[in-house]
Amino acid sequence: PTFESMNLKDDLLRGIYSYGFEAPSAIQSRAISQIISGKDVIAQAQSGTGKTATFTIGALQAIQLKRKDLQALVLSPTRELASQICQVVCNLGDYMNVKAFAITGGKTLKDDIKKIQSNGCHVVSGTPGRVLDMIKRQILQTRNVSMLILDEADELLSETLGFKQQIYDIFTKLPKACQVVVVSATMSKDILEITKKFMSQPVKILV
Ligand code: AMP
Repeated sequence: PTFESMNLKDDLLRGIYSYGFEAPSAIQSRAISQIISGKDVIAQAQSGTGKTATFTIGALQAIQLKRKDLQALVLSPTRELASQICQVVCNLGDYMNVKAFAITGGKTLKDDIKKIQSNGCHVVSGTPGRVLDMIKRQILQTRNVSMLILDEADELLSETLGFKQQIYDIFTKLPKACQVVVVSATMSKDILEITKKFMSQPVKILV
């Protein structure tokens, strides 16, 4: 398949090509259409496969730009990764006027909060603790979040990082019908538990 054959919005397709992508990678060929069709997806994929663009394109296709509210939330295990993902959202969404923010610990969010409150925010990429905090403070509104993405879910749920409870708390703040996309290099007991508790008939993709 080609990116053209995916029925993407014109301005998203333009963003993909001007970012320098010519053809979809294996995971992109298999997962983007499933995400766009609204299915819950578990993709077992390592970094380097094009996983970030996979869920980013899926999210950007789903976003209604006329609205200003938060519609897609990406959680990842580190500040660096959350910032990189935010950058990819901005790059691929360069022609869409998408409003995306990196919400992570270790930085002052004062300016971001001002912008979110005055201009809105479609996509948040963040680490669980800070995102949950912003939801609790009602700076981020979750009532219209239609897609939750867990990137590097095995890391995200590992005991070492201790994010599991925060992620569960975030799930409880999201609409019941929220689509869930999980990307992980390995499949663990914790991921299966998330699947059972929060996903419905997930499509599994292994690359
Ligand atoms: P990731 O798996 O998300 O860590 O991506 C690995 C690298 O592949 C990144 O530098 C991406 O910019 C690049 N990449 C992702 N998709 C494509 C594509 N379809 N064509 C060319 N490069 C890509």
